[in-house]
Amino acid sequence: MQRTPHSADVTLVVATLMIALVVPAHAAPPTQIKTVTADEALKDLMDGNARFAKGKATSPRRSPADFRAVSEAQNPIAIVVACADSRVSPELLFDAGVGELFVIRVAGNVVDGAGVTVKGSIEYAIAELNVPLVVILGHTNCGAVKAAVQHIDEKDSLPGSINGLVELIKPAVNKVHGQPGEKYDNVTRANVNAGVERLKSLQPILAPRVKAGSVKVVGGVYDLHTGTVKVLEPESK
Ligand SMILES: [Zn+2]
Repeated sequence: MQRTPHSADVTLVVATLMIALVVPAHAAPPTQIKTVTADEALKDLMDGNARFAKGKATSPRRSPADFRAVSEAQNPIAIVVACADSRVSPELLFDAGVGELFVIRVAGNVVDGAGVTVKGSIEYAIAELNVPLVVILGHTNCGAVKAAVQHIDEKDSLPGSINGLVELIKPAVNKVHGQPGEKYDNVTRANVNAGVERLKSLQPILAPRVKAGSVKVVGGVYDLHTGTVKVLEPESK
């Protein structure tokens, strides 16, 4: 049956009414992803992590309407460089929605020495999307960190490309050698800090912005047991 203009109008009205009924009145407009400073972005992430850790996640902006709202353009508030570990999912642990986080995941959350794929991804988000915050996120009980510690002691090598990846974490193992405290925790923090320091000085895109204060790079460690993220103090020079 051929549809008349009149029936199309009726269809539109009915569809609008259905949307009005389906979408709860309190739901925020899906386009409401804001422009924020680095400090505001970090507060957003930490507030989200506090909700997640308490079991009070709101799981925001995950409906089809939310996907559509950002289908033409993105405006993420933070870049998160996290481990590929199955237990470290940034959108979950920061209770964030679609379009909010620009996530780069690689085993051991390595930045320094990781080559153009990791650094280029970060630079793209800074230069093209104007993201104000970078978070390098390590985590407790990280297999890549463990492998670096174990295989530096055992002086053997791992198969395939695993060895090359683990080699990138070994400078952090050497750096904390002889330090008090739990060895894996120390290496995890040192590895995160190495990434933070590398990005702060990375020319030509990050370093000038960090110096001018328009971009912040911070490190954090996610505790698999408690669900909380602890932001690391900047390393003293
Ligand atoms: Zn890991």
